[in-house]
Amino acid sequence: MKTFCGRANPTTGSMEWLEEGEDYDYHQEIARSRYADMLHDKDRNVKYYQGIRAAVSRVKARGEKAIVLDIGTGTGLLSMMAASAGADFCYAVEVFKPMANAAVKIVEKNGFSDKIKVINKHSTEVTVGPDGDMQCRANILVTELFDTELIGEGALPTYEHAHKYLVQEGCEAVPHRATVYVQLVESKRMWSWKKLFPVHVEAEDGEKIIVPPSEMENCPGVSSVCDIQLNQMPSSDFTALSDVVTMFSVDFSKPVQSASTCYRVQLEPVKSGKAQVVLSWWDIDMDPSGTINCTMAPYWVKPTSALQWRDHWMQCVYFLPNEEPVLQGEKLYLTACRDEYSVWYSLQKAREGEAEADEEEAKAAVGVESPVCRCRAHLLWNRPRLGELNEQSRTGQYSQALREVLKTDSVCLCISDGSLLPVLAHYLGAKQVQYFILFFRSLHFSLVFKANNLEDKIKIIEARPELLKPSHLEDKKVSVLVGEPFFTTSLLPWHNLYFWYARTAVSSHLASNVTVLPHSASLHMMIVEFQDLWRIRSPCGTCEGFDVQTMDDMINDSLNFRESKEAEPHPLWEYPCKSLSDPQEVLTFDFTKTVPQHCLSTEGSVNLLRKGKSHGAVLWMEYHLAADISISTGLVQISNEKGNCEWNPHCKQAVYFFSSVTESETLSDPTAVTYAINFDTKTGEIAMYFKL
Ligand code: SAH
Repeated sequence: MKTFCGRANPTTGSMEWLEEGEDYDYHQEIARSRYADMLHDKDRNVKYYQGIRAAVSRVKARGEKAIVLDIGTGTGLLSMMAASAGADFCYAVEVFKPMANAAVKIVEKNGFSDKIKVINKHSTEVTVGPDGDMQCRANILVTELFDTELIGEGALPTYEHAHKYLVQEGCEAVPHRATVYVQLVESKRMWSWKKLFPVHVEAEDGEKIIVPPSEMENCPGVSSVCDIQLNQMPSSDFTALSDVVTMFSVDFSKPVQSASTCYRVQLEPVKSGKAQVVLSWWDIDMDPSGTINCTMAPYWVKPTSALQWRDHWMQCVYFLPNEEPVLQGEKLYLTACRDEYSVWYSLQKAREGEAEADEEEAKAAVGVESPVCRCRAHLLWNRPRLGELNEQSRTGQYSQALREVLKTDSVCLCISDGSLLPVLAHYLGAKQVQYFILFFRSLHFSLVFKANNLEDKIKIIEARPELLKPSHLEDKKVSVLVGEPFFTTSLLPWHNLYFWYARTAVSSHLASNVTVLPHSASLHMMIVEFQDLWRIRSPCGTCEGFDVQTMDDMINDSLNFRESKEAEPHPLWEYPCKSLSDPQEVLTFDFTKTVPQHCLSTEGSVNLLRKGKSHGAVLWMEYHLAADISISTGLVQISNEKGNCEWNPHCKQAVYFFSSVTESETLSDPTAVTYAINFDTKTGEIAMYFKL
């Protein structure tokens, strides 16, 4: 069987459909899965085990047989815990076939085949009865179907169905209950991911302001969850306006309703300020008394010493539809609405003399429709991109570089997705009509021009670079070609080199003395030790005493299938690491020339300067705008002599995990890592090899 996989081609900037063998999807799924991270989550595993033991004991104490239903068994871990705890029989349901097969192997290897039956079905397809998948309904329900937003992986409909058809009334559930917590905060940093701030431009004739489209003002934005490692957000980047409050809970031992609903809590701000975002996380109580608690609470709520690092569950940032000024002590209502899979928030001021509003009112007040972007700007700019565009110092760097090259009669062509550079260029120099290439991805960009009355000043050309005609440019030659460069289809840092390909495609339209800005780019590399991120690629061996090596082997096979010579994108501001080597420039790309026919390769070695475990190499791009102006999409600085790194917070960097980790102990005999890096100009991809 063949499948078609969508993938952006960095030489054309567009999506292509590649035919792949049937194994491809499966290997992708396993290689990118969070199974390893879950198995490394000691806090989660220990607490599930405690909760399962307690549930089995309660059932046995009632003189009943303990029949367990484990929905989404994965490796079979929770069923093996139940069997070890004395459960009489476990039904382990897993919808994903390769995982169900792995569960069978793991269960067998650990000697539980007679106690655990793996059922390769979605739980809603499971049948009960003498000829069914399950002989009878279960009296213990165990699941781990939660994502960072709690309900995003479909926990609610799964529970609703299980209570109706698969478990007995009054069954024990592990976890017993989940509770969602919220805190109202003001945060310029996080708010900058939701809306475009006015952009200040220092022009020759005074300061100019690029105003955001007014349509953005009341737009609820996109509904996709914003899940981040909130523990990496310094406390100086937000101000808590409320205490932490409980928003809602779900009791998993009782019938669960998945239908859309709203919850409302009363809040009294502890501080006056601008309410902008709601930070949220959840905890699960493994037992009814709440003594076995597993929480995602961030560092300012929970002592740092007790924090368990995990990537499969993080924290959520919800953006209020509008920024709302609030006063300390005033009465507010925070409303959470949810459908089956997602949650969203709104804030209401309590009116004078208003009685306690109940949840019925809440539903009526806000309606339960999930937020959809109405302004279309949120479709043009995603959250990290908005954060990037709102970075005033970055705008300053582009402005300074543009001022150096622009003249009043410049004919300027911009190639970048959803870029403000044409507007900057207009204010800084080229007063005549400039040109802006439009691709299929920038459809909503005219919004910005309209908001700034620039529709007749900047022309959007709806053509791909290779189809650009002299008539598009009114038969003029381009004197300044600019790009950030940024393209929405880029996954890895060097995919933005599409700018170079586009520059090559429009060569015949460029004046002989054209200025290209940035004039060049460079690829940089550094060897690092991760504080935690290494876990997602590290084998587990045994988990709470169960042999899960089969899973390690499976992940390893999938990594070797395709990914072994490839780096993967990670936003490293969320994943602390320390540098073990100096950052090194490994390749340069000259945008003043066209893309060469031959590959660009380099080899060399880097010395390890600090003690530590070499988990991998980090690679990023830097763009050189002018003699002394460069933009880094990776390392911003190494902040202390321990080697702690500060990364560009709006870009993902490329991480190449080494297949074996070496620890450099002494520095008297410096270890070196040798590398070979090859940029294939035909494909736009980079292959790399490292030897420790
Ligand atoms: N229980 C394991 C794995 C949890 S990951 C552990 O705790 O380590 C969740 C798993 O549930 C995934 O493998 C997913 O494929 C599966 N899953 C999710 N919803 C399901 C459903 N309704 N029926 C069957 N499997 C489901």
